[in-house]
Formats: sequence, C-alpha cells, structure tokens
Amino acid sequence: TDGIAAVDADLFGAMRDELHRQQHEIELIASENIVSRAVLEAQGSVLTNKYAEGYPGRRYYGGCEFVDVVEQLAIDRAKALFGCGFANVQPNSGSQANQGVLLALTKPGATILGMSLDAGGHLTHGAKPNLSGRWFNAVQYGLDLSTGLIDYDAVERLAHEHKPEIIVAGGSAYSRIIDFARFRAIADAVGAYLWVDMAHFAGLVAGGQHPSPFPHAHVATSTTHKTLRGPRGGLILTNDEDIAKKINSAIFPGLQGGPLMHVIAGKAVAFGEALQPGYRSYIKAVADNAKVLAETLREGGLDIVSGGTDTHLMLVDLRPKMLTGKATEIALGRAGITCNKNGVPNDPEKPAITSGIRVGTPAATTRGFGTEEFRQVGRLIVEVLDGLKSSNSDEGNAATEARVKEKVLELTGRFPIYANLG
Ligand code: PLP
Repeated sequence: TDGIAAVDADLFGAMRDELHRQQHEIELIASENIVSRAVLEAQGSVLTNKYAEGYPGRRYYGGCEFVDVVEQLAIDRAKALFGCGFANVQPNSGSQANQGVLLALTKPGATILGMSLDAGGHLTHGAKPNLSGRWFNAVQYGLDLSTGLIDYDAVERLAHEHKPEIIVAGGSAYSRIIDFARFRAIADAVGAYLWVDMAHFAGLVAGGQHPSPFPHAHVATSTTHKTLRGPRGGLILTNDEDIAKKINSAIFPGLQGGPLMHVIAGKAVAFGEALQPGYRSYIKAVADNAKVLAETLREGGLDIVSGGTDTHLMLVDLRPKMLTGKATEIALGRAGITCNKNGVPNDPEKPAITSGIRVGTPAATTRGFGTEEFRQVGRLIVEVLDGLKSSNSDEGNAATEARVKEKVLELTGRFPIYANLG
C-alpha cells in the first residue's frame, strides 16, 4: 500500500507511539480532548487538496461547489449551537481568531484591556511577547487575591483610566463563571467593545453548563479543539452585522489565504455532534467530574485556587505540600497522568517552575470516566504527590509511581479509546 506505515516508517512509528500514549495515559490537560473517528476522518480527507479563498458562494477559485456545502454546514451548525446570527469558521487557530478581532475592530497602537497571563489570561490578550502586546498598548487586569476571582473593580478602574477600545474577557486557567453583564456595563461606560474569548468554556456554553457570552459580548472567539471536541482551529461569532463584515474581511484577506477545508469539515462534524442530546450529557459529566476532582484534591490536602470550579478545569495550588509545578508535572507523567504546570496567583516561583498545576476533565470524560473514576484519579494524584514529597527529591518515589501507573493502566484499559486504530 502507499499508506504512512509503508512509505515513512520513522513518522509512522512516532504516530503509533502517540496513539498508544493517548490510549494508556489519563489526559488531564484542560485544553485537550479526544475527537471522534468522524472528526479524524474529515481531517484526513481529500478536502485538504482544495483551495477556496473567499467565502461560500464568493470564492476566488473554481471547483468550490462541494467545499461550499462543507463550510456552509459548519457555519449553520455553529450559529445553531450558540444561538448566534453570524459565524466565521475559517480561523486556523484560536490565536488567529483573536488576531482577527484585533484587526477587525482596532488599529495598531490602540489601547486594549485584557487579563494578564499570570492571572490566567491568554498570550493573545495583550501579553508582552505576543503580537497583541507588542503592536497594541495593552493594559492588563488580574485577580482579587483574597478570592481568586477576577478583580472587577480593578477592571472598571483601569477601563476608566485607560479608555481601551476593546476589553477582553476569558482565559486559559480561570475556573469560575465570568460576569459578562458586569464586563459589558464597564465596556459601555467607556465606549469599548466587549470581546469574550470562550476558547476554554465554549463547550460548556454549547452544552448548557455555562452562561452564554451573548447578548453581552459584541464579539466572541473560540478554539474548536478544547471542550468543543473538534479539530484544532478557531471560530468567531457575533450578532452585529457591521462587526460580522469586518470580521470576514479581517480573516480573509486580512490574515489568511486559503482556508483549511479539511479542518472546516472537522468543525462541521464536531458542531453537529455537539448539537446532539448526548453532548449535553457529556458536558454535564465534564462539569460534575471537575467538582468531584476538586473536592478529592482538597480532601487530599491541596488548595484549589478560588476554592473550587464552575467549569471543566481547576488550578491546583501545591504549596500546602511544598511541591513545585515542574516536579509535580514530571512525577505525574511518570505515573501515567498528564497535566501541565501552571502559575498560581502571586506565584513566588518562576514561570518555568511554578507552584501549581492546571487539570481538567474534558478528555477523560470523553473516554467514559464518571465521578467514581475521577474520585480515584484525585486519590492517585495525591498518592503521587505524597510520594514525591516524602522522597525529598524530584526523582519521586519510584514504588509509589509504579503502583499508580498500574492503576492508571487498569482504568484506561476499562475505558479504551480508538480501539480499532491499532
Ligand atoms: N484563547 C484562549 C483563552 C486559549 O486558552 C487558547 C489556547 O490555549 C487560545 C486562545 C489560542 O488557541 P490556539 O492554541 O489554537 O492558537
């Protein structure tokens, strides 16, 4: 055959190893998920061959009659899923969706107000090394350290002081429901657009477990690969016709050339799946599981930033056990549990070390874990951390980690994924 296994053994080996890693580890990275076979199939299809600059019915290339159907399905399903008048499904990533908003609604040098990276915001919300922080006058808000919640009073004060053109709400490591109405009131008071980046919690919105950014947001962006459980990519939504036109020209020809039609097909599949009743139960389980995981970790002597979670993720403060995020991420990895180190509010450690980890439930819930399994996962995490602590070194406690890995293999074996992929 001319498949990868036959033509490229090195690449095939790495892909097979990655499949096995996903099959046999417990994935707790909050921004990841496990897509369906149908999403994989769409992305591995001949749609990758097609150039389709423009939008359905208005292309700059011939032969677009079938990819027009594909993109229109994705658009219509996104609109239905979020109860929205307009969707652009072309952004190649969440970051490009965000750049699209900046290009559509403002100019370089303008003032933007977003949540800082160390408070849980995203790079594209005005962080210094990012285009959004280099080409814009980015002012940043953070958390109220006594509660771990967004410091809304500070957002209001900064908005009045700096008069931003855009205020962005939403983040990558924030576990609580955001008060969109309060953000909109602040934006209106200073004549700013309110942009909600729901990359993380879009699936919870779609599945009825989180308030919608609309009608408060002027525009909302998202990734499609996190809780939404689609292919890697971005999405922009609005109900404002004028903003919609600007968004379309910002994405093409402003930022991108030919859209990734195979990825857009994957988005159509995922949005279709998210419109099914089963997805609502899935998202409810994601949220229920996160609460159980947070509770179990607290019972095990860890702190959860803000005391708990309203969403699919939580930030675990490791300081009660005097451990760093870096050592913890590596120790859990040795035991077959994957997560990422993450700074906690006012973290005394450097960003490459940190005092926390971020964990989330979307991926393991997809493979079928319920509250019972997540209670077990929470206990396994505590077991590894206590072993790490008692070992007094970053090497951890090999016996404990081996014991936990056995239990991880037992759990993942009971809830297999991609069984017929090899
Ligand atoms: N916005 C938020 C809030 C995110 O968490 C992320 C991803 O981490 C992005 C945007 C960027 O998405 P991507 O990684 O697809 O560029």
